[in-house]
Amino acid sequence: MAVSDHVDLPTFMEGVKKRNPYQPEFVQAVQEVAEDIFDFIEDKEEYHAQQILRRIAEPDRVVSFRVCWEDDNGNVRVQRGWRVQNNNAIGPYKGGIRFHPSVNESVLKFLAFEQTFKNALTGLPMGGGKGGSNFNPKGKSVREIMRFCQSFMTELYRHIGADVDVPAGDIGVGGREIGYMFGQYKRITNHFTGVLTGKGLEWGGSLIRTEATGYGAVYFLANMLATKGEDLRGKTAVISGSGNVATHAAEKIVQLGGKVLTLSDSGGFIHDPDGIDQEKIDWVKTHKTHRRGRIEEYVDAFPGASFHAGKTPWGVPCDVALPCATQNELLGEDARTLIANGCKGVAEGANMPTDLEGVHVFKAARILYAPGKASNAGGVAVSGLEMSQNSERRSWKEHELQQMLKDIMAGIHKSCLTYGDQGGGYIDYVKGANIAGFKKVADAMLAFGVV
Ligand code: NDP
Repeated sequence: MAVSDHVDLPTFMEGVKKRNPYQPEFVQAVQEVAEDIFDFIEDKEEYHAQQILRRIAEPDRVVSFRVCWEDDNGNVRVQRGWRVQNNNAIGPYKGGIRFHPSVNESVLKFLAFEQTFKNALTGLPMGGGKGGSNFNPKGKSVREIMRFCQSFMTELYRHIGADVDVPAGDIGVGGREIGYMFGQYKRITNHFTGVLTGKGLEWGGSLIRTEATGYGAVYFLANMLATKGEDLRGKTAVISGSGNVATHAAEKIVQLGGKVLTLSDSGGFIHDPDGIDQEKIDWVKTHKTHRRGRIEEYVDAFPGASFHAGKTPWGVPCDVALPCATQNELLGEDARTLIANGCKGVAEGANMPTDLEGVHVFKAARILYAPGKASNAGGVAVSGLEMSQNSERRSWKEHELQQMLKDIMAGIHKSCLTYGDQGGGYIDYVKGANIAGFKKVADAMLAFGVV
C-alpha cells in the first residue's frame, strides 16, 4: 500500500519547521497556505498519496553563491547571492530579484513559495522563483551598483534563461539594475533574449510594467469593494512604502477618486491630511527614485504634512489600507487598530506584509482582505506579458496592456470567489487565493508523476 502523507496540520508544520530551522519567514508562508489547503485536500486522497503539498513546500533547488565586487575606494567586498527555484510545474521559474541587507535564504524561500501560487493565479504559464542578495544599494555610487550587478549576473547567468528562469526587479532592483544585469547577461552569452523582465522600452521592455503592481492592487481592491456595491470615490487610503508599488498604488487610488493620506519608508511615515495628489506623488517618485532621498523630506516640500519617525501608518483612520513596503510590516495589533478605526478593505501590495496574527484578525473581522499573492499579482502578470511580447518580437499598445491587466486582476478576483465564498456575504480571499493557486500547480504535478 502506498505511503500517504495524510497527517494533520500540526504534524505537517512540525516537519516543515524541523526541515527548515532558522527560517521563520518560510515557515510562516507555508503555514498560511497549509491552513487552507489542509481543508481543501481533506477528502482528496490523490494529493496526499502524491505528497503534493510537501513537494511544493520543498524548492526544486536553492542556488547560493559568492558575489565579489570592488567599491570606489578599491576595497574588495563580498556579498552572498541566491536564486531559489521553487516550482516549474506550469512554466519557467519567474520571480524578482531583491537587493536588501535583510535578504537571506528564509526570506527568498518564502518569496519563491508565495510566487508559485501568485503566478498560477494570473492564468499565465509561469512557475515560481525568487532571488537576491544581502547587498545594500543605499549610499552606493552608480558605478558601485553597476559593478555589483555585473558580478551578481556573472554567476546567475548559468542558472537562468528565457525558457528556464526569468527574473525581474523587486526591492532595491529597478530599471537601472535590470539594465546592468541584462547588459552583463548579453555580454557573457551573446544572446539577446527575454531572460529578464522589467526591461527598458528601447530594449524589449513592456509598457505599464512599472505601474502594474500598484495599479493591479488597486484594481483588485476596486473589485472587492464592488462586491459590496461600493467604489473608491471619496474613500481615504493609508499606504505604506514609497517605492515602485506604493507610489503607483497611490496614483491609481487618486485616479479612481480616492484620497491618499500616508506614505512611508524604513525611517517612518508621512501623514498629509490634505491628500497626496498626483503632483505630490510625482515629487515622491523623483525624490525617492532619482534623488535617492528620504520620505521625511516630504514635510519640507509640503508643510501641511507631518512626519512620524520610526512608526508605521496603521494608526491613521482610513477606509482602505494598502501595505506596500515589505514583509511583516502590519502586525496583529495594527490590524485591530485599523478595524477599530473603521477600515473596510485591505489589499496587500507587498509580499506577506501582514503577519500571521494580523491575517487571523482580518479574517475573524470578516473585512475585505486580499493577500499579496492575489492583489499584487499585476506586476508579474505584466512581466508574463513582457515575455510573450519578447517571444513574438513585437510590442503591444498601452491600451491593450491596460485592458489585459484589468482583465487579469478581475480573473484573479473571480478565482478567489470560486474557492473563498463563505456565504452570508463573506469572501475569504486568503483561502480563495491559496486553493485556486494550489489546485493549478498541484494538478500539473499530478500529471507529471513522481519527479
Ligand atoms: P522598492 O524598493 O521600490 O520600495 C520599497 C519600499 O519599501 C521603500 O519605500 C522602502 O523604504 C520600504 N521598505 C523596505 N524595507 C522596509 C522595512 N524593513 N521597513 C519599512 N519600510 C521598508 O520596492 P517595491 O515597491 O518594488 O516592493 C515593495 C513590496 O512589493 C515588496 O514586498 C515586494 O516584494 C512587493 N512586490 C513588488 C513587485 C514589483 O513589481 N516591484 C511585484 C509584487 C510584489 P526605504 O527606502 O527606506 O528602504
